[in-house]
Amino acid sequence: MALFYWNTHLETGNDQIDSQHKRLFELTNNIADMVSGQGSLPETTVLLGELLDYANTHFCDEEKLMCQSSLTAAKKHQHVCAHRSFLNQVQAIAEKSDLAQAEAVNEILNFLVNWLVTHILKLDHRMVQMLPGRPQASTDGAPPTLSVHEILIAALNESERRFRLLAEQAPTMLWFAGTSGAREFVNREWSEFLGLTETEMKATDWTMFLHPDDRERYRAFLEERLLRHDAGLIEYRIRAKGGHMKWVVEKVMPRLDGDRFVGLIGADTDITAMKETTTTLERLVAQRTEQLERLVNSDSLTGLLNRRAFDERLELEIHRAQRYSRPLSLLFIDIDHFKLVNDLHGHVIGDEVLRAIATVLKNGLRATDAACRYGGEEFVVILVETDRVEALAIAERIRVATENTKLDHLGERATISIGVSSLSPEDLAVDLIQRADDSMYIAKKNGRNQSFMK
Ligand code: GH3
Ligand code: MG
Ligand code: MG
Repeated sequence: MALFYWNTHLETGNDQIDSQHKRLFELTNNIADMVSGQGSLPETTVLLGELLDYANTHFCDEEKLMCQSSLTAAKKHQHVCAHRSFLNQVQAIAEKSDLAQAEAVNEILNFLVNWLVTHILKLDHRMVQMLPGRPQASTDGAPPTLSVHEILIAALNESERRFRLLAEQAPTMLWFAGTSGAREFVNREWSEFLGLTETEMKATDWTMFLHPDDRERYRAFLEERLLRHDAGLIEYRIRAKGGHMKWVVEKVMPRLDGDRFVGLIGADTDITAMKETTTTLERLVAQRTEQLERLVNSDSLTGLLNRRAFDERLELEIHRAQRYSRPLSLLFIDIDHFKLVNDLHGHVIGDEVLRAIATVLKNGLRATDAACRYGGEEFVVILVETDRVEALAIAERIRVATENTKLDHLGERATISIGVSSLSPEDLAVDLIQRADDSMYIAKKNGRNQSFMK
């Protein structure tokens, strides 16, 4: 950013001289940029070379013009002496052995700024005024120039005007605050975001637009920046135009006048769309994860738990039941004469029977129970919070429901045999399964289509 801007007060009225002055302005602003860290520092010898080049052309042109002016010989001499001293002074600063490179460049910069304002305003304006054909300003030959102070204010005003223009037109929401943290200026982008006119914005406590859950966090964040005089980043929600809650990311930076902390500057971006995309993506990932888990844990033919998921679940339920001394039972189910079904009707019909029995299990059990396809035509069911009496009753209910299920393509009813076991305090999973399996075989031996418990 420019150190200060050329403004009409600096114009002498002679185009050639003015354009050369502008060149020195540019040179000065470039040095200011480098000093403020936006470029590497120039070598003082390079700097001297550039200034020498400028001075050779400019002073020479000015002195030629000066010859035509009606300035007194003494005034002309004073002006020429000023030119001579220009490069001597810059060179003297550059050669000061006790200065570091940065300090030397800084001193040259200060000298140039001073030169630009005082020399141009005093000597150059006076000289141009005294050129032939110009209306004579006053009896002593002094032009009606403004004071240095006024010129600097004009330069500052220009800088302020440009800054306001930039801040107003910037496609980012910007604000400035003083040392209390209260916003002294917000740009149009901000007031439009909240749906307020500039006047309304001034009369409104904008923090009331903050989401109630973010208000305290934002206040603490700002307080920390004011205390530490450092930069920070925060995301918060705010009620924007039309009452919509929006997400904003805000970068806050300290405003410094030299080393003095004078407040904060903030730049905000509406990130609602990005947040929404992230939320949708997270929801999608959660859905996909759930689908994947279901796939990994279920049997593809029946949709019941598969053997791997069942083993995990049984361990967990046994652990819980034994720890809290709660009842737990298991059903071992085997389809009767299933080989015959396959042999007589084919495997496709056989699979249909498997699916039909799975449906009976899904419909006849509580959500907390777990049904699993254990092997080919064998199923197991974990009955949580269920003692032996209740388990036998449930087994019977399932057996009857299966017997009563009409199977379209089979033409006859399928039956099942069920072995029941209940958990003892010392049981391992394998014990519980073994007892249910043994009981199931007894049910088979006893004539099938029945439940049994040893
Ligand atoms: P039992 O009453 O003694 O249990 O007689 P069963 O015919 O059911 O005897 P067994 O348990 O020995 O036979 C199991 C048969 O189940 C063997 C096989 O044909 C059939 N089977 C196993 N898995 C599947 C499957 O995934 N699909 C189909 N359609 N049949 C299967
Ligand atoms: Mg079997
Ligand atoms: Mg069987």
